[in-house]
Amino acid sequence: MPFLDMRPIGRARQGGLSLQATVDAVWKDILRDIAAEIGETRFNLWFRTAVPVGLEPSSGGASLVVGVPSAFMAEWLETHYLRSISEAATARMGAPTTVRFVVDGKLFRGMRRDEARAKDDLLEEIAPSGPARGAREGKFYNLESFVVGPCNSVAYAAAAKVIESPSDAYNPLFLHGGVGLGKTHLLMAIANAMKGRRSFGNVEYTSAEGFTNRFLFALRNGSLDAFRARYRRARLLVIDDIHFLANKNATQDEFLNTFNTLSRDGCQIVMASDSHPKMIGRLKDTLVTRFLSGMVARLDKPDYQTRLAIISHKAVQNGLSLRPEVAEFAARQICGSVRELEGAVSTLVAYAALSKAPVDLAIAREALKGLVEASSRPVMLPDIEAAVTAMSGLSAGDIRSGRRSRPVSAARHLAMYLARGMGGFSYAEIGLYFGGRNHSSVVAAVAKIENQVAADADFARKVASLKSEFSL
Ligand code: ADP
Ligand code: MG
Repeated sequence: MPFLDMRPIGRARQGGLSLQATVDAVWKDILRDIAAEIGETRFNLWFRTAVPVGLEPSSGGASLVVGVPSAFMAEWLETHYLRSISEAATARMGAPTTVRFVVDGKLFRGMRRDEARAKDDLLEEIAPSGPARGAREGKFYNLESFVVGPCNSVAYAAAAKVIESPSDAYNPLFLHGGVGLGKTHLLMAIANAMKGRRSFGNVEYTSAEGFTNRFLFALRNGSLDAFRARYRRARLLVIDDIHFLANKNATQDEFLNTFNTLSRDGCQIVMASDSHPKMIGRLKDTLVTRFLSGMVARLDKPDYQTRLAIISHKAVQNGLSLRPEVAEFAARQICGSVRELEGAVSTLVAYAALSKAPVDLAIAREALKGLVEASSRPVMLPDIEAAVTAMSGLSAGDIRSGRRSRPVSAARHLAMYLARGMGGFSYAEIGLYFGGRNHSSVVAAVAKIENQVAADADFARKVASLKSEFSL
């Protein structure tokens, strides 16, 4: 099929609304979409050197012809990005458009020149060498600065065990959980601890993305041996965000080989991912099996008590003295990741510095408004329970118990009243949660508190303040 237009892009621009100018504009738009989708590093690696050459008719539509510097790149782009590019092209052209890659020797020579120059930068960029050099974001990660709660105690204990006896108990160690829950923190804590141990051997820390990029770079540059040597001489290999390998067959094979070599030599491997190995998807069974062969530990979102501990710990770290009611307010309101809790503490630090006064509840409410909204989710019964136990000095066990002493039943009634006020919970649910009470005892509790609020201004104020903490 003849090309409709195969003129080099430079000359085509003179043609005003020529086909080539259209192609050029379309390609620019496509690049914008792709860049947004895959991020700058990968974009630079794969798309910077590609140029649109023309459009050719193809069955049922058109085909955008794109020149790339090497057959390897053409193949890679075809396997990994053909769909994204075709979709973007179809959207821009308003007609079914596929993409075809052609190899252009001139581009190759240009690329090699650029590459020689950019190689060091690129390696710097794609190789976040992490804790090997100490700190991320100016911060040093260790186990001491990690606050332990029910949400992360297993992962913490496993990390501690690996530090204590690497290659022994938990190998490989696989941590998984949502964003901002402490996976990288624990990984770096392990890497840092082993780095600090004399004569331990090489510690290699990288993200799966860094591993992938270095692998592809080595493939293109014929430096696979050096790449392999780097990872295979590690005594401890730490790979973060392993889910990045999903879908990347060649890199998965390479990683499997690295993994096997290291395991055979008795080296410790530690990994983290946003989900359980089986849930990553598009990950070869052989890898999944290996990931499951050691210790798999999950990190969850922190519960109220842990959130409170984290906030207090971070406040101390930041030299901020927090009033207990402010710490409790923040812990109750910010209920997402640890990263969000850190954000809350930084905000409070900034407010304290600005107002040159201790942060009180009103200021905290104002300061954390945005964060609270961002992490807002329906208030849960355990939150209400936590608020009431904090206020009454009783335990959750007391509140749920059958005890009928005045303070205990008063607290229980208050919790039921607040739960009802929250909406979304039936009397039956509330009764069940707070110690298996029936529907009518919840109705009675709510009525009791309502009466008391009406009769006792002091009590009404207390209840109002509790309610406002839940933004009711
Ligand atoms: P992930 O890798 O799971 O997305 P990170 O390890 O990057 O999360 O954690 C996000 C931030 O929260 C980091 O600054 C980390 O130090 C901090 N962090 C996470 N969990 C804890 C914890 N249990 N105690 C103290 N800080 C924590
Ligand atoms: Mg992380």
